[in-house]
Amino acid sequence: MKLNIKDSFNNELPSDSNRQNSRRQVYESTHSYVTPRVPSHPKLIHASKEMAEAIGLDEADIKSTEFLEVFSGAKVYPKTKPFAMAYAGHQFGNWAGQLGDGRAINLFEVENKAKRWAIQLKGSGETPYSRQGDGLAVLRSSIREYLCSEAMYHLGVPTTRALSLMLTGDDVLRDILYNGNSDYEKGAIVSRLAPTFIRFGNFELFAARKDIKNLKKLTDYSIKYFYPELGKPSKETYIQFFKEVSNRTLEMIIHWQRVGFVHGVMNTDNMSILGLTIDYGPYGWLEDFNFGWTPNTTDSQNKRYRYGNQPNMGLWNLLQLANALYPLIEEAAPIEAVLEQYQIDFKQQSLKMMRSKIGLQVEVEYDEKLMADLEDCLLLSETDMTIFFRTLSNYKIGSPEKGVDIVQQSFYKPEEVKDEILNQWKGWFNTYDQRLQEEDLSHEARKQNMNVVNPKYVLRNYMAQLAIDKADEGDYKLIDQLFQLLKKPYDNQPENDKWFAKRPDWARDKVGCSMLSCSS
Ligand code: AMP
Ligand code: MG
Repeated sequence: MKLNIKDSFNNELPSDSNRQNSRRQVYESTHSYVTPRVPSHPKLIHASKEMAEAIGLDEADIKSTEFLEVFSGAKVYPKTKPFAMAYAGHQFGNWAGQLGDGRAINLFEVENKAKRWAIQLKGSGETPYSRQGDGLAVLRSSIREYLCSEAMYHLGVPTTRALSLMLTGDDVLRDILYNGNSDYEKGAIVSRLAPTFIRFGNFELFAARKDIKNLKKLTDYSIKYFYPELGKPSKETYIQFFKEVSNRTLEMIIHWQRVGFVHGVMNTDNMSILGLTIDYGPYGWLEDFNFGWTPNTTDSQNKRYRYGNQPNMGLWNLLQLANALYPLIEEAAPIEAVLEQYQIDFKQQSLKMMRSKIGLQVEVEYDEKLMADLEDCLLLSETDMTIFFRTLSNYKIGSPEKGVDIVQQSFYKPEEVKDEILNQWKGWFNTYDQRLQEEDLSHEARKQNMNVVNPKYVLRNYMAQLAIDKADEGDYKLIDQLFQLLKKPYDNQPENDKWFAKRPDWARDKVGCSMLSCSS
């Protein structure tokens, strides 16, 4: 297994001089060196051929002992120095101080086909940042991250990627619902990849400590490698950097809204400076369209990170990043302008996204009202988001009376869709029909356009849970089936139609399906 190692983060940025793996506050350093824990019986469950190729490996490499050893943490790849990153963050709206990679260990960076990939193991043991945690990850949450990050990529949503899913052979103690019922679960490790894993929280750590020297080093490094088009470090460049991060964050969140993804823990330590979806924890997919839904039981009181609030939380997080970068910019006006622009862009882009979801190309003034009315209708009775938008593409102009029948499959309680609810839907289809008259696309062309923005298959919460239940019994076939299915989420795949279905009733209130905690 030959990798083209091009480490830059640990070579160019200041490291912690303390080499002991003890929990502590770490100052004036972006990272601490740490060796992954050696698993007792590592076993490869699944690997992504595509991501192996991306880092210059082939199928024979995936099957090699070295691959098993390196990506389970059993062996350190020659001439590399694994490390944990130092960062801080705001969690659920409160300043949390130093956090850091408590259970992620960065192995190395690889350059291949002109792309740079940083590779991390998630779940390979304690680091100086583990606080009260054990640095480990369980199989269920590892399957969820492995499958979802690849699914998101194929949906066209910016995300970190995944290379491999391994069992460690060690048991991990977890209290899934934080109710005093701890149990042993299988330990697992995901190897994940991104150009960089730098988060908003990396900047917040230095800013909070007034360590401007290292704040500047980190910012200059980020620009040099990931925003080189912005040019040499200067105040103007830092403003542009913030603007770019803001744009990318918004773009990512608009995609989340489009596909019905709810991250669940949008803390600033989980916000990538590349606008990538990062740290798949208690995330979930909207089944019935519901602005108020969050999968995260830890957040069930305030629902801070509910579906409808994600764009606002993106803005709130950007404000924290702005505060962190302020010492380098020392001017409030340009930062405020970026944050204001985010709000303007959000309105425009979400309208554009919603237009695309219902097959509109032309921009008409009353579209905002059309969307608001549609959202009202979707909330009248539980309506499956994915199935609604997908089946809507079958709607043919001039037949508003057939509208409700066409999307019938998306209602969880079809018997409720009568009287006032039915009338409201009929009203919407009438307006929609009139609105379609202003477009000059054929039915087929519109259907095609809609079917590339409205996925047919997403990783519904219960689907991941089925794969987890099987894997717990040692059967990994469903992991591969879902992995293959979700590579083509917009294709029809008639052989997989059983996955184009509403959440089954048994999954409505089942742990892991609709309710998830941060315990992972
Ligand atoms: P998360 O909510 O998963 O993004 O994690 C928030 C913080 O807690 C990060 O600093 C993680 O590294 C840390 N953390 C989460 N789980 C563990 C664990 N099992 N062991 C050590 N640190 C953890
Ligand atoms: Mg995190």
